[in-house]
Amino acid sequence: MKYVDGHIHLPIFKNNADWIIKKSRRFGVRHLVSVSTNYDNSEKNVKMCSKYDNVSAFVGTHPFCFGSPYTDGAPGLNVKWLYREIHEMEKLAPKADGIGEVGIDHYLIPNLNTQKRKEQQYLFSKMCEIAEENDKPMIVHCLDSAGSVYNILEEYNVNPVVIHSFRGTKQLLDRGLKNGYYFSVMPKNNKLDFYPDVDMVVDRAPIDRILVESDAPRKDGKIFDSRTVPQIVKEIATRRNLSFKKTAWEIYDTSKKVFNV
Ligand SMILES: [Zn+2]
Repeated sequence: MKYVDGHIHLPIFKNNADWIIKKSRRFGVRHLVSVSTNYDNSEKNVKMCSKYDNVSAFVGTHPFCFGSPYTDGAPGLNVKWLYREIHEMEKLAPKADGIGEVGIDHYLIPNLNTQKRKEQQYLFSKMCEIAEENDKPMIVHCLDSAGSVYNILEEYNVNPVVIHSFRGTKQLLDRGLKNGYYFSVMPKNNKLDFYPDVDMVVDRAPIDRILVESDAPRKDGKIFDSRTVPQIVKEIATRRNLSFKKTAWEIYDTSKKVFNV
């Protein structure tokens, strides 16, 4: 069985990233999509992934840079830094395979004032602009923010769009599906203080709009790698009452198409 890990934070693994990439083969993971969270690790990500044919480098500035328990060492936000991030990302994007992880978060960072909310939306709209201009796929962090995320995405021509960590209503899920977005399913075995609406996505989305991801390393005290990916596919097949083999092939095919690998 073959898989694509559609979302892994290789820059966070630092010196272990090479080992994680090699090890993923053991789990049947043929390709990894490595996302970034700020300019600094985006640049490193592009450099590192260029050594491998089976790893795509996505670059972008994560909404967590506005403050969250999971900032991944982002330098903390002020307007000057924000403009610099955008400016550097514009230069880096042509060398990348896609834009991500970018988006809007209203759940883990709920207490932003109006100004900071606007800045978060501005940052995301600039990331959409960069994706559109460079004709790159995009991975979008979308925690209790689907309405705001879609409103901005609908103004741009970004294609394909992968919604990661979806937490929202059925109506918002359906609007995303109608817009043609793909939805990425993450592992359930985490002890995070939030949990995306994975079951709803698995139950409602057409199978050819579903992707899978490890989102490794999850910050729950354990270092995970891509080994969770086959397990997610198994769970999707069980919930949908489909054959495991057929589900795995279908998701693998969709992943190859979306990530152009
Ligand atoms: Zn992530």
